[in-house]
Amino acid sequence: MAQRYGTGDRILLTGGAGFVGSHLSDALLARGAEVVVVDNFLTGSRENIAHLVDEPRFTLVEADVIDGLPVTGRFDAVLHFASPASPTDFEKLAFEVMKVNSAGTFHCLELAREQGARLVLASTSEAYGDPEVHPQPETYRGNVNPIGPRSVYDEAKRFAEAAAAGYRRIHDVDTGIVRIFNTYGPRMRPDDGRAIPTFVSQALAGAPITVHGTGGQTRSICYVSDLVDGILAMLDSAEPGPVNLGSEHELTMRELAETIVELTGSRSTISYLPRPTDDPELRRPDLTRARELLGFAPAVSPADGLARTIEWFATVASPTSAL
Ligand code: NAD
Repeated sequence: MAQRYGTGDRILLTGGAGFVGSHLSDALLARGAEVVVVDNFLTGSRENIAHLVDEPRFTLVEADVIDGLPVTGRFDAVLHFASPASPTDFEKLAFEVMKVNSAGTFHCLELAREQGARLVLASTSEAYGDPEVHPQPETYRGNVNPIGPRSVYDEAKRFAEAAAAGYRRIHDVDTGIVRIFNTYGPRMRPDDGRAIPTFVSQALAGAPITVHGTGGQTRSICYVSDLVDGILAMLDSAEPGPVNLGSEHELTMRELAETIVELTGSRSTISYLPRPTDDPELRRPDLTRARELLGFAPAVSPADGLARTIEWFATVASPTSAL
């Protein structure tokens, strides 16, 4: 995919102080672009972007995207990544999740419309719900429980997708939707409730690893640098999507726990807790579209990516704060 955005371009990124957003900020700056992040630190952190504050091409606007985008000037692209994304947030921040993906998405779409800018929307594999088709191609319309505990996230992202597709169809805005599957790496919150930060924090603290159910449920895990490459390829393209981005390396939660125990050299044992309601049984992207349209080729193996993540958690994050 030929690079379309880089030096001289001004890019608005919502959620740029979050896990994925901060890595995207790094990658966009490395391309020579100017990056304006709008973030209210609801689930992101100042530490994630502390290394960028002296960068002249980086601007932080501390604001809630639900209320609008208090930015001025020209924008060549808009990336809408602001949204709590962890299962623990689906209850604590249920309505913030719904509003940032509805009102927040409209603000981003309006800006992209005014500016004639490309817009990339961060959607999710959760749009497929608890899938009855495996692996999941983009043509699969999903199996979401609209009133279940995950629905505030799943349905909000489906709404955001509908809004983006509508702006393309009705207002001719150059929108692109990426459906992101489980991604991991440095700068995840140790206490965010997702399996990898939880298991790594527990292993580093020598505490029991808490696996849900029998641990036979699967996830495919994608290292964050691979995801960022896919997002930038989507930005550079004119594809409407949705395009799945993730990894085809499927692991059971039990295998993941065992690998993390091994890589950390921990003496943690594995303990089994009840499964949360509507927790998907199987999750793996069909990446045919991403490969064909974007040349997407994730390169980091789970062993390498987990080792890098463990190193970051061991040296930077507080390993005990999740416990
Ligand atoms: P994150 O919580 O680390 O980042 C989200 C960022 O958005 C945070 O910095 C938060 O402060 C900010 N934010 C939230 N609500 C806001 C608001 N109203 N106004 C301004 N800023 C706000 O989550 P993440 O894992 O980096 O996810 C980023 C995006 O990617 C989300 O849209 C998420 O749904 C999507 N996604 C992530 C994954 C994954 O595996 N990490 C998977 C699927 C989809």
